[in-house]
Amino acid sequence: MPARSKNIVVLGSTGSIGRSTLEVIAASGGTLRPLALSAHSSFDVLEAQARELLPQFIIATDSEGACGHDWSALPDGVQLLVGPDAVAEVVARAEVDVVVSAIVGSAGLHGTWAALEAGKTVALANKESLVVGGPLVTRLATERGATLLPVDSEHSAVFQALQAGRREEVRRVWLTASGGPFRGFPPERLGQVTVEEALAHPTWDMGPKITIDSATLMNKALEIIEARWLFNLRPGQIGVVVHPQSIVHSMVEYIDGSVIAQLSPPDMKLPIQYALTWPERCEGVAAKLDFSRAMHLEFEPPDADRFPALALGLEAAEAGGTTGAVLNGANEAAVAAFLARRMPLSHIVPACRRALEAHTYDPNPTLSQLVNLDRWAREEVSRWVSA
Ligand code: MG
Repeated sequence: MPARSKNIVVLGSTGSIGRSTLEVIAASGGTLRPLALSAHSSFDVLEAQARELLPQFIIATDSEGACGHDWSALPDGVQLLVGPDAVAEVVARAEVDVVVSAIVGSAGLHGTWAALEAGKTVALANKESLVVGGPLVTRLATERGATLLPVDSEHSAVFQALQAGRREEVRRVWLTASGGPFRGFPPERLGQVTVEEALAHPTWDMGPKITIDSATLMNKALEIIEARWLFNLRPGQIGVVVHPQSIVHSMVEYIDGSVIAQLSPPDMKLPIQYALTWPERCEGVAAKLDFSRAMHLEFEPPDADRFPALALGLEAAEAGGTTGAVLNGANEAAVAAFLARRMPLSHIVPACRRALEAHTYDPNPTLSQLVNLDRWAREEVSRWVSA
């Protein structure tokens, strides 16, 4: 047990990861304390969370929406802060131990950046922070003495398996992929799948953006880029293997041929808890494996023709520079267009490739360049959809 409770800031507390994080905190018996919760616009949920957990602060980042909301049910002692700048102020407070970066999409980069700048430990659920700004984000963490801990289940598994050997002994990392709901589909049928079919993930219960990314395997492409930066790997050291049961969350292969895996039922509460309690392990609320019952674990290589996103992810991990920001921005816009029923699922990856090919590549971009390119890629894809 830690000597004192850890103060946790949850950025994006009303989303899927945010809500699971609050479950972990509530079950911690006081060893994890919710210092601040932030939400962009789901203010009813944020207010309900504040009533239940009594954090010191809540942050409503959409100032305009926050002004129109009735906050009269907010309990005494919970201080309301409004606007995006409040995030940077709160994460820098001396008493903050861990900042959970759980905002979906490139909007999460702002909070990750502020927390790293303040030298904090960041539990990173927002993979876009590394996809968009990998080299800049990891350099900032090193400069400020901040710690980046993975919450993404695959990267948490790799992080845990890396503790079995030395870095120079690692041959490669195997990221597992469930294959999504369309694993067995012929490529031509992918053009006709509905939003409802794409949102029905076979093993994981997640938010809509990441569920669609799992259906196209773009999620795995983004995770390749995330792993490249998080663990300082060469792209050639990152492999993907399809594992439909989502029990083995990823593996590290060492030079002697040993493969170390991390196994648990698909439940985000475990990787969230490990990031919050690291370097210790605690009794947890996540589901446990039951080896008294028969279980089959299957592995197969991914079908590169059916899922062209994987090649795109490897290319972007190799090229670095501006490619991650463009790929991510284009994908977010394309997924939004699919969810709005304005683009078929099979057009998402080609739209991303088109944006990558149309952009002016820079191997050493600044943060503001990346932010601008993210916006540019979204606008390009939206323009193609409306054309
Ligand atoms: Mg993942």
